Amino acid sequence: MDLNSCLSQLDLPWAACRLTGPIEPYADAQFRNWLTEGRNASMGYMANYPDLRRDPRLLLEGAKTLIAVAFPYYTDEHIGLPVALYARGRDYHEVVRERLMAVASTLPGQWRVCVDSAPLRERYWAQRAGLGAIGRNNQLYVPGFGSYCFLGFILSTEEFDFEPKPRLENPCGDCRRCIDACPGQCLGEDYRALDARSCQSYLTIEHRGELPGRVSSLAGCDICQRVCPLNRDARPTAIADFHPTEEFARLTPADLPAMTPSRFRALFRHSALNRLRLPQLLRNLTAYSEKTVN
Ligand code: SF4
Ligand code: SF4
Repeated sequence: MDLNSCLSQLDLPWAACRLTGPIEPYADAQFRNWLTEGRNASMGYMANYPDLRRDPRLLLEGAKTLIAVAFPYYTDEHIGLPVALYARGRDYHEVVRERLMAVASTLPGQWRVCVDSAPLRERYWAQRAGLGAIGRNNQLYVPGFGSYCFLGFILSTEEFDFEPKPRLENPCGDCRRCIDACPGQCLGEDYRALDARSCQSYLTIEHRGELPGRVSSLAGCDICQRVCPLNRDARPTAIADFHPTEEFARLTPADLPAMTPSRFRALFRHSALNRLRLPQLLRNLTAYSEKTVN
């Protein structure tokens, strides 16, 4: 079966690869070192299911093909809340899953859709399939779209016909802009996995408890992507769900202190920020305001 015709309805960048073995030893060692050094911060779940993380064939019995799809989310609308770009539209877990399920349900054989929902080394497999290259800021760059892309995957028991894409690697050359610009100093020249313990994206969304210092955004952090020359191709996404609603765009930091929990839930329930709780957002606001004042 021709995979190109199966995926044409998506009209999105994609790449596929045959699953003939586990991840390569270098990638496995890199990940284990990252855990050993504690750079996963409080995300202890990252150490769970090491066998599945090593070999995606264990995620679906008889899996033979992995399809990686990029969902661009870059938007350039002005909005009142300083939050990361990925957090401005509808929750990508919902959007990406819906679209991939619609395609997967037309495929023969068994399949499984994974959107940040399975212990799958997503960026590694996307790079290995030829969808893009991982930069020093740990983001996957998709040619023509930059790094502002959500990733979604379909595991399938079928052996499809498709044109394999060349593997892209080391896209950065001598550049180190993201390393110099990162407020948490959590990146390195050797493409090492970032240190979540000082990453503002982790701190503002995942971290519970006090923040260690000021933050540059109320939720998430785009600095290492905004400074990146590989993002000069980024264009506003054609996916309407990833653009902010008018109601969301009108919110400003001044609206937050008086916000009730029910209004907060109504506003953020279908947002990529639905992991955040109101007290966390207010904590982030305090740390952000310190930045603005000083
Ligand atoms: S998201 Fe922000 S804090 Fe985290 S690595 Fe990128 S620039 Fe640094
Ligand atoms: S800013 Fe430079 S070093 Fe960082 S990911 Fe982009 S190209 Fe690579």
